[in-house]
Amino acid sequence: MTDQLRALIRDVPDFPKSGILFRDITTLLSDAAGLRSTTHALAGLFAESGDIDLVVGIEARGFILGTPVALELEAGFVPARKPGKLPADVVSASYDLEYGSTSIEIHTDAIQPGARVLIVDDVLATGGTARAVRGLVDQLQGEIVGLAFLLELRDLNGRDGLDDVRIESVLQY
Ligand code: AMP
Repeated sequence: MTDQLRALIRDVPDFPKSGILFRDITTLLSDAAGLRSTTHALAGLFAESGDIDLVVGIEARGFILGTPVALELEAGFVPARKPGKLPADVVSASYDLEYGSTSIEIHTDAIQPGARVLIVDDVLATGGTARAVRGLVDQLQGEIVGLAFLLELRDLNGRDGLDDVRIESVLQY
């Protein structure tokens, strides 16, 4: 099954800039069987981990994948958004990009203390985004069950700094 999913992901060289091999999942999302299998595989990574109250999906592809995963796990969905998008009170965390920095936000009242949270995104690359979102869930005193990614770029060591949480990916590159 993972070979079928892998075959549906399109590699685009030199996007968004020279030297980056972009793993484009739009070709997977538009395939009906691929979309269903992806959702099922992602949800299955943590299906034996007890009740999950909330899936936190990271903008933007984490929204696309996280929402059906939340439905399958019978959890609610919380968006982690780019700055300035969420209308009510937020907690915010800054993190470094290759050039400069950015931040990510979650509504302060979206996660109650003790809620069991699964964080979902499409790609674990350097892990900067995942570490920032993990920090926000910690700040709101959510209990992190783990982080689930469709694919993991092993060479970029995204797991560094996340040693104390469970990380699973469907595909490894
Ligand atoms: P990072 O914070 O470095 O782990 O990367 C965060 C986000 O960047 C991921 O969720 C992806 O959406 C995107 N990303 C980084 N590298 C790639 C890549 N090679 N192909 C596709 N998406 C990528």
